Amino acid sequence: MEERREKPLGENFDFPPSVLDEIQKNIEEIILNFDVPEGNKLDVIKKINFMYSQTRYMSVTDALTGLYNRRHFEECLEREFLRAKRYKNDLSFAIIDIDFFKRVNDTYGHSTGDYVLKEVAYNILQTFRKTDMVFRYGGEEFAVIITETPLDKAIIPLERLRKTIEENVVKYNGQTINITISTGISGINEETESVHQLFENADKALYKAKSSGRNCVMHL
Ligand code: GH3
Ligand code: MG
Ligand code: MG
Repeated sequence: MEERREKPLGENFDFPPSVLDEIQKNIEEIILNFDVPEGNKLDVIKKINFMYSQTRYMSVTDALTGLYNRRHFEECLEREFLRAKRYKNDLSFAIIDIDFFKRVNDTYGHSTGDYVLKEVAYNILQTFRKTDMVFRYGGEEFAVIITETPLDKAIIPLERLRKTIEENVVKYNGQTINITISTGISGINEETESVHQLFENADKALYKAKSSGRNCVMHL
């Protein structure tokens, strides 16, 4: 059966990229048909295109880390899940949470906390392929969609990331901060019925990682 969107798009000006694409098309049509002097048309289109691409970038990006934001995440996870199911591809999904991050803020201050978030984000980006997608899911939580990769293979880069973060102390304003992360991972198989299930399995695995002492990668 064909999968269809259920949610209405564009509520409260939180436009997803597909709606922004539509807006751009409309703007181009208006400019082309409007009474802009012939010599200025290209200039106007260029300016609007620039403004549009800035808006589009901001709508999918987290300002602090430069990673994709949560809004974009919702759309991407569903799309990748449907794609993997349809073409019978492997797909893994991970949620990464910084351990005792509240302590970092309480001990060193919020701006150090922000710096740590940027460092962790950078490390995550460095770990994964360009075909994977990295998101800031929440305050100190990150999500990674690992395409064309089964769970047992996806564990390898996540374990490498865990080790890198554990071993590299963060240096900021003369302070040295030790960080660890906990990760929950899930993968799709014939029994995975929904994107919700894929997400929940990783979330439960993260809970397991936290209750097993943190600084580890877990699956169900
Ligand atoms: P756990 O190991 O169980 O995950 O403990 P935790 O302290 O990391 O988890 P908790 O959920 O109690 O705290 C998360 C903290 O993340 C609380 C909040 O102050 C901090 N935080 C969230 N967003 C930001 C941010 O943008 N910048 C900074 N500096 N801190 C943030
Ligand atoms: Mg958390
Ligand atoms: Mg945490």
